[in-house]
Amino acid sequence: MRLTCDVELVNRLLPSFNLKKASRSCRAQVSLGKKPASSSKDGALFLMVCTAKDRNGVKFLVKGNIEQIFGKFVSDGKATIRIRDPQQDVCISKADPLQLKNILNLIHQASQGKDLDRTALSALTPASARQVEKPKTKMTILTRKDYPLTTTFPSSLESLQVSQCSMKRIDQRILQLSKLKILNLSHNSLQSLPESYGRIYSLYELYVNNNQLTKLPISLCRSSLSTSLVVLDISENQITTLPLELCELKQLVTLKADKNDLKSLPATIGKLIHLKSVSVAHNKLAILPAGLTRLQLDHLDLYCNPLELQQTESVIMSQLTFPTLVECCARSIKKYRVPYTDEDLFPQLCQYLDSARHCWCGNYCFQCCARYIATVDLRRVSATVTAWDNVGTKLVPVEAFLCSQNCLTKFQNNSVAYWK
Ligand SMILES: [Zn+2]
Repeated sequence: MRLTCDVELVNRLLPSFNLKKASRSCRAQVSLGKKPASSSKDGALFLMVCTAKDRNGVKFLVKGNIEQIFGKFVSDGKATIRIRDPQQDVCISKADPLQLKNILNLIHQASQGKDLDRTALSALTPASARQVEKPKTKMTILTRKDYPLTTTFPSSLESLQVSQCSMKRIDQRILQLSKLKILNLSHNSLQSLPESYGRIYSLYELYVNNNQLTKLPISLCRSSLSTSLVVLDISENQITTLPLELCELKQLVTLKADKNDLKSLPATIGKLIHLKSVSVAHNKLAILPAGLTRLQLDHLDLYCNPLELQQTESVIMSQLTFPTLVECCARSIKKYRVPYTDEDLFPQLCQYLDSARHCWCGNYCFQCCARYIATVDLRRVSATVTAWDNVGTKLVPVEAFLCSQNCLTKFQNNSVAYWK
């Protein structure tokens, strides 16, 4: 019976001598067994703790020598075994709960002198270096020759950076790293992002800046990352539009999309209530979505965008018309989140669907909608704004769309209601 876990050995006598040892737990292997020499039936059982420093291990007699087992947090992988002689506590953490339960059970039985099933016991051989090494949680690969081709990525990885490796698409093996929290694939040649993110469920930070992406796929916004992603960096790509589905990345706090070809921001950006920092410098934004004004940002970077203020009053630029059949279908596809890919539809229809607008009532609309333009002071949106400071004003034009006569009437009755 062997258990890989973190162990801290605490000498209970030290405090009574007024000594305090800096406690530190380290990766270890705990096993229960008999010494090879005493293979006879009456051989004494020992609990052995092997660490990287001491691979031969410390052995504690079990029979009649276990004062107490503290197993209240066994389901969290934690327990403490109190040894009578020497007066030490074996504090176990980060263990597999099921295995820990098993070994504690065996120790309990053995301490009371009961016979154990011989198959469950270990021969108390020293642990190998691999068995006691700390699981690798961070990996940085900055050259192509360091990229693992024949070996695998350690499944314990929480942070992975692969840069300057001319990667064209994300390696499927990376998508199987279920513990990954930070993934940095910047400075590669990625042309697309995957449709699904495999076993990655709790990614906080995704960096795909300095690649060759031309769009941010809807699938990313609807993937397993949608409930976990906090930082998204897509700077220095060739992205022209961000999908309205961006709003499904509900936990997003930081969005960096500098140096792209963005002509607009999604109208739904106002739904990202946790958003604190938006950076879209060096793009082609001439107008901002009205939804942006619903945010309370700490920082907004709009440097080097052709934002031009035409007038300061709110105006309705176009009148409502009857929606066409195509528009009705497209509105339903967006509203009911009907999945589609580039293979299902003609390219024109995909482009049409990508051009969706978002009315402030929550519905989607396309060509048959009224467009209005207003002016907003960015100081109401963000604590700090980086823009064209030489003009000394933070007024920018914003646009929004109204999907129906009903919405238009409401807007005409109180045109500032939305801005509040
Ligand atoms: Zn509407």
